[in-house]
Amino acid sequence: MNRIILILFLIVMLVLPAWSGTPEFWITQLNYIGLAALVVLGLILLTGVGGLTSFGQAAFVGIGAYTTAYLTTASGWSPWLALLAGLVITFVVAYVLGAITLRLSGHYLPLGTIAWCLSLYYLFGNLEFLGQYDGIAGIQPINFLGLSLRDGRDIYYLIWLVVLLSMWATRNLLDSRPGRAIRALRSGGGMAESFGVNMASYKVIIFVYSALLACLSGWLYAHMQRAVSPSPFGLNYGIEYLFMAVVGGTSVWGAIVGSGLILTLKDQIQNVLPKVIDTTANFELVVFGILMILVLQYARDGVWPIISSKWADITGQSKGRRAASAPPEAPALPQRQRPEAGKLVLEVDAARKEFGGLVAVNDISFTLKAGEIMGLIGPNGAGKSTTFNLITGVLPATSGKISFLGHRLDKMPSREIAKLGVGRTFQHVQLLPTMTVLENVALGAHLRGEVGVVPAALRIERRTEAALLHEAAKQLQRVGLGDYLYEQAGNLALGQQRILEIARALAADPVLLLLDEPAAGLRYKEKQELAGVLDQLRKEGMSILLVEHDMDFVMNLTDHLVVMDFGTKLAEGTPAEIQQNPVVLEAYLGGIDDDIEFETPETPATAGGTA
Ligand code: ADP
Ligand code: MG
Repeated sequence: MNRIILILFLIVMLVLPAWSGTPEFWITQLNYIGLAALVVLGLILLTGVGGLTSFGQAAFVGIGAYTTAYLTTASGWSPWLALLAGLVITFVVAYVLGAITLRLSGHYLPLGTIAWCLSLYYLFGNLEFLGQYDGIAGIQPINFLGLSLRDGRDIYYLIWLVVLLSMWATRNLLDSRPGRAIRALRSGGGMAESFGVNMASYKVIIFVYSALLACLSGWLYAHMQRAVSPSPFGLNYGIEYLFMAVVGGTSVWGAIVGSGLILTLKDQIQNVLPKVIDTTANFELVVFGILMILVLQYARDGVWPIISSKWADITGQSKGRRAASAPPEAPALPQRQRPEAGKLVLEVDAARKEFGGLVAVNDISFTLKAGEIMGLIGPNGAGKSTTFNLITGVLPATSGKISFLGHRLDKMPSREIAKLGVGRTFQHVQLLPTMTVLENVALGAHLRGEVGVVPAALRIERRTEAALLHEAAKQLQRVGLGDYLYEQAGNLALGQQRILEIARALAADPVLLLLDEPAAGLRYKEKQELAGVLDQLRKEGMSILLVEHDMDFVMNLTDHLVVMDFGTKLAEGTPAEIQQNPVVLEAYLGGIDDDIEFETPETPATAGGTA
């Protein structure tokens, strides 16, 4: 059904200019909407998806327009060659600007883009060879397939061809390995970094991508108008593009919806307002401002999701539209060599973490061997999660040494640690709720296949992509979530979300797995299944470090235990030893935590546990 609507839309778009009855004004308006949609598409990726705000897209449109205007008039270049020049200049400028501002936190990018937009506007207006505020006129039309696109009805086709191709490419990009990383940007938090995603570089990538789309729009604009002047590239247009992107939201179709709505509205306001209240002032900005508040209040993800869900109601299509079957078979990804059982994998030597005056981890030492499950237990606030964060590089250690298979982890960023084969879950679940379960887990396999941005956008590297998704599905089946592959991750129960995190960590093919309270929120039977999976992993030679409050679970599963309290190591030994340890019994069972018991009705006197 949706496909039929799409085809109808394309047919209407195709015949509109060909039919002589279509008013000239419509064509012009549609051309402007197409040009804006290109810019907005980039902004949707940058702001809607990536969470980065740019006020300066109009300046990139200006670069595209002015480069071609100057090179084709003063130097007689072909417009196509001038397009290439414009794209190169934009690439360099956006890369430098992005690399500088994106490494700084939050608001530097918006501020940087405002400054950049303002300064470029005045530069266009003051440079003699760019015609100052008069601009450049007499630009030739584009020649395309032997046709001179002189008329609005002719260039219309080129504009919309470029818009649709860009939408297709952007959609492909989002539906791929780099796309999953881009969609993880907004969550911040460093979760993606701990699966090896280089967040900073993906930020620069989407900034450059959106700038290139804006440049393309400027090039088309210059050859449609056949003249350029600085005003359409000023800051107020930059803000208008951002309005359109906010209205458009987070989906590629939002680019057309956002630009179409705002430009139509702007035209209506400019027509109607002067008739109602006797004024020629620019009231549309006031109306847009109110609209913006409403959108941010009631439609955070833009208006497209509202339209598409209304549409789904009308046609009776709802959930489960996507294929409910597993992704197709694909060759297995290469696996890391696991160390032999019994080999020393992790060595924590007097690791210390201070938060101001608080010593959260107080010179903790322990070792973990290959094929061993070690439990780290202790009351809330004992410093267990902080210890995890030291091992995975989320937090820098104050002092001490952490070694993993001969590498020093304590001076390494978490991205590098992930590359060595350390996978983890989080005590407070960190997943991307609007992405499918399958995609969330595939993010864990980020480092296991290389798919670049360009091949992803052009959809020419599907083999690696298929292998990544297949691996994700395999891990989900392994942990018992095989029925939920295409469910939105946010819809799962909390216990299932924890299990999802385990599948995500497994998709990274780790040597060492760190699980922070994996059984919390699980029912008894689910806990047993989880214990079965972990036991199987141990048999395969994986090393597991486990933080868990369910003592029955811990005592039955682990080979070795470290007990922490107030950041300090209280005791260490086998489960049986720990249960007899007078210090532990005193500190731990002395009534601090009534809910923590070594013995439970299911397995009375578990002394000996498993081993
Ligand atoms: P556990 O996981 O054993 O419950 P945590 O490692 O989360 O304990 O916390 C240990 C101590 O460190 C607590 O007192 C906690 O308040 C403190 N702490 C943890 N993270 C931070 C942080 N980022 N900044 C300041 N204090 C922290
Ligand atoms: Mg914790």
